[in-house]
Amino acid sequence: MAKTVLVTGGAGFIGSHLIERLLGEGDEVICLDNFFTGQRRNIEPFGSDPRFHLMEQDVTTPIDLDRVDQVYNLACPASPPHYQFDPVMTRKTNFMGALNVLELASRTGARVLQASTSEVYGDPLVHPQPEEYRGNVSITGIRSCYDVGKMDAEGLFFDYHRAHNTDIRIIRIFNTYGPRMRPDDGRVVSNFIVEALQDEDITIYGDGSQTRSFQYVDDLVEGMFRMMQQTDIAGPVNLGNPGEFTIRELAEMVLGLIPQSRSRLVQMNLPQDDPQQRRPDTTLAGKHLGWKAEVPLQTGLTSTIDYFREILDQKSSVEAVETLAA
Ligand code: NAD
Ligand code: UDP
Repeated sequence: MAKTVLVTGGAGFIGSHLIERLLGEGDEVICLDNFFTGQRRNIEPFGSDPRFHLMEQDVTTPIDLDRVDQVYNLACPASPPHYQFDPVMTRKTNFMGALNVLELASRTGARVLQASTSEVYGDPLVHPQPEEYRGNVSITGIRSCYDVGKMDAEGLFFDYHRAHNTDIRIIRIFNTYGPRMRPDDGRVVSNFIVEALQDEDITIYGDGSQTRSFQYVDDLVEGMFRMMQQTDIAGPVNLGNPGEFTIRELAEMVLGLIPQSRSRLVQMNLPQDDPQQRRPDTTLAGKHLGWKAEVPLQTGLTSTIDYFREILDQKSSVEAVETLAA
C-alpha cells in the first residue's frame, strides 16, 4: 500500500537516491532539507511528480506534519570538512534532528529510521566491526561533533522506544559513494575522481595505508529500504561492503580507470583522529534483511566517474560561455 514517507536530508547524495526509490514504489514523499550540503539539482527530476513535496526547513526546528507513515532521518552533513565547518551546528543537528523526528513519530505513530554511521566505532580496535562492538571514539576530538552526535542520536532513539514504544530502526552506514555527491564534497572517492579528471594531484592523507570499505549507493538504498520494511529487528544494523582497500589502492584504482589522467599521487598531512581501519561485519544484515552489498568497487567507481565527467564538462562549458560574455 502506498505510504507517506518523510526523508530529512532528502536533497543530499544518499537522500536523493532514496527518494527516487520511494517514488518508484508508489509512495508520497516529503523531502525536508535546509540545503546546507544538499543540491537542488539532486531533486530537480522529482519536481514534476505530484507525489513529491519539498519542505525547506532546518531539522533542528519542530516538524509540523499531521500524517506520516515512515520517516528516514538523514539530515546531517556527512563529509569531515563539512561537518567540522560548524561543529556546534553538527552536534545540534544530530541531537535536535533526532528529537524532532522522534517527537513526530511518536505523535503520528510513524516508523522512524536513523541513518547512523560506522563512525560510532571510532578508530576501531576490533576488526571487522560487529554491531556489539562499543568502539574507540575520541570524545573531545575534531570528529566528535559527528560521531558522538550520532551516538547520542542512537541513544535517544532507544530512549523513545523504551519510554514511548516508538517504532524505531537504526542503520550504521559505512563509507558510501556514487553519483550525486558534490564535486567539493571532500570525501576520498569524490576527491580522487575530481582530481584525476582535472589532472590535479591526487591528495593522499598520511601514507595511504589506512583502509576503508566502500559501498555503492544502490546497495545502501536497498539495505535501508529493507530495514524500514521488516519487523524483525530495530537495530543497529551495519550496512556496508566488506571489501577493504587501502587509500593508496583506491587512488591507483581511480587512476587505472582514468588512464588519460596526468595526475600524480602526493602525500599530505593525516587529519587528527583519522581511523586506521574500517570493515563492516554484515552478518546481522544478511540474517534479518537477506541483504549483502553486490556492487564491486570497480563497477561503482566507473559509474561515479561517468557522473563527475558529465558534471565537470557542464561546469567548464558554462565557464567558457561566461568568459566569452565577459
Ligand atoms: P549529504 O551531505 O550529501 O546529505 C546530507 C543532507 O542533509 C544534505 O541535503 C543537507 O543539506 C541536509 N542537512 C544537513 N543539515 C541539515 C539540517 N540542519 N536541517 C535540514 N537538512 C540538513 O550526505 P550523505 O552522504 O547523503 O549522508 C546522508 C546521511 O547518511 C547523513 O546523516 C550521514 O551522516 C549518513 N551517513 C553517510 C555516510 C556516507 O558515506 N555517505 C556514511 C555514514 C553515515
Ligand atoms: N582521504 C585522503 N584524501 C582525500 C580525502 C580523504 O587520503 O582527499 C583519506 C582520509 O584521511 C581517510 C579516508 O581517506 O583516511 C576516508 O576519508 P573520508 O573523508 O572519505 O571518510 P571517513 O574518514 O569519514 O571515513
